[in-house]
Amino acid sequence: MTDPARPVAPTIAPTVAEAIRDAAQTLAATSDTARLDAEVLMAHALGATRSELLLRHMRENEPSGFAALVERRLGHEPVAYITGEAEFYGLALEVSPAVLIPRGDSETLIEAARVAFTGRSPARVLDLGTGSGALLIAALSLWGEAEGVGIDRSEQSLLVAARNAAAHTDNGVAFLQRDWTVPNWSDGLGRFDLILANPPYVEDDAALDASVRAFEPAGALFAGPDGLDDYRVLVPQLVGLLAPGGRALVEIGHTQAKAVIALGTEVGLSTQLHLDLASRARAIAFF
Ligand code: GLN
Repeated sequence: MTDPARPVAPTIAPTVAEAIRDAAQTLAATSDTARLDAEVLMAHALGATRSELLLRHMRENEPSGFAALVERRLGHEPVAYITGEAEFYGLALEVSPAVLIPRGDSETLIEAARVAFTGRSPARVLDLGTGSGALLIAALSLWGEAEGVGIDRSEQSLLVAARNAAAHTDNGVAFLQRDWTVPNWSDGLGRFDLILANPPYVEDDAALDASVRAFEPAGALFAGPDGLDDYRVLVPQLVGLLAPGGRALVEIGHTQAKAVIALGTEVGLSTQLHLDLASRARAIAFF
């Protein structure tokens, strides 16, 4: 029995700092980046940037929406899908479950392109399987005069890419729904000085993190038993898509360099291997 004369202890709402600490402990069970996740989700709940959060909001009361965001992350949903945003090459991009979340590793392609085109600008840039538009928009951020074409078979992804392009570039850009497994898909596109591609390259039965396998689009990840299906279709087609002096940069899984280089050599293309920041094979240049 509660004593009616005794005042009920007021619930003391946790502060933002306390809520982040608790969430980081909880999330450590399912995430390798628990503290960072908690801070990014808290910033999102507050409608603030992460630095504003850390500088200004730590002593406020926990906002009401935070717990639900932590609950979603606990179920392995990627932080980028919860916030609807991911950073690539310094650009804050919109993402949705229709698109692969851009990875820092893919910046290897942009760096390789930047070096290859030192002192000149590609006039036309093609992004095969553009997804969020990350590679294309990052490339256009380097060359103000370049014209961009992004293709994807997913209509939903093209809508995301078009919004990202509108937010981040004044260059001429077109996004087209095309599927490179359909004959004649590239009719009328012309040739390109720079071609970028992060095609699906994961083996169908690969052991992937739950946050990837259960949430990211299978169509952007899986490419047959050895992960090479899309390279077999795409690499021979580069011959007809590259302009004279042009260069294609294609992302690979770190065990795939030899096989993908061989596909290029077979059709008379020269190749160069590019490593990522962890010194793993990450991209092949074809020219
Ligand atoms: N890098 C992604 C992963 O390992 C794969 C991306 C892709 O298949 N293009 O999850």
